[in-house]
Amino acid sequence: MNKIYIIPTPIGNLEDITFRAIITLKNVDCILAEDTRKSKKLLNHYNISTKIISYHQYNEHQKLMKIIENIKSGINYAIISDAGTPSISDPGFLLVRECIKNDILVETLPGPTALIPALVNSGLASDRFVFEGFLPHKKGRLKRLLKLKAEERTIVLYESPHRLLKTLSSLIEIFGSGRKVSVSRELTKIYEETKRGTVKEVLDYFSRAKIKGEFVIVIEGGK
Ligand code: SAM
Repeated sequence: MNKIYIIPTPIGNLEDITFRAIITLKNVDCILAEDTRKSKKLLNHYNISTKIISYHQYNEHQKLMKIIENIKSGINYAIISDAGTPSISDPGFLLVRECIKNDILVETLPGPTALIPALVNSGLASDRFVFEGFLPHKKGRLKRLLKLKAEERTIVLYESPHRLLKTLSSLIEIFGSGRKVSVSRELTKIYEETKRGTVKEVLDYFSRAKIKGEFVIVIEGGK
């Protein structure tokens, strides 16, 4: 049966990969990777010598149908992204959708992703939550936050270092300064840190700090 494997890879600590992920990456004919140079570091670390080709947001439309044809003709692929789970704020969704349309089995391995450790570490309600990925950069940013104002579930956002303060300020503007948040940075890495408090406290803290690394913002749901 034709199949595509979706394989999560570490979000910082190279040891965060499952045995099955390694075995699968060794056994497929070809690995689709967002940045082949970055992925080679991981693959070399685990002695994986499978052929690797680039598949990223700028070439996925162009490569998609050829990959589908190849899978149908019996070539086994796995897709990985630079970090975490493909298709979660990363390429992968188009391929999964097209595989399903073409009766190709999709097997997604469980594994690393930044949103789950950030949510659990936040201490905010984790029984129900919404993942919003990255907010729009410019147009639609405040509109998106306004829509989320009435959201009762915990909200998880991804953010880049240069927009962190801007986003925390927007949260104060729209949700009020007393809303609880938790900001996790550099999860699984040496400088991993989680700062919890009201959005005002967390903004003050990061305004004094050097803002470096990768961030997940977790916001308490509205009452
Ligand atoms: N596919 C990834 C996943 O499953 O989490 C997400 C990729 S997205 C392009 C990158 C964003 O994920 C970063 O800007 C940050 O918000 C979040 N992220 C990834 N690794 C992280 C880490 N080690 N610590 C904190 N946030 C991280």
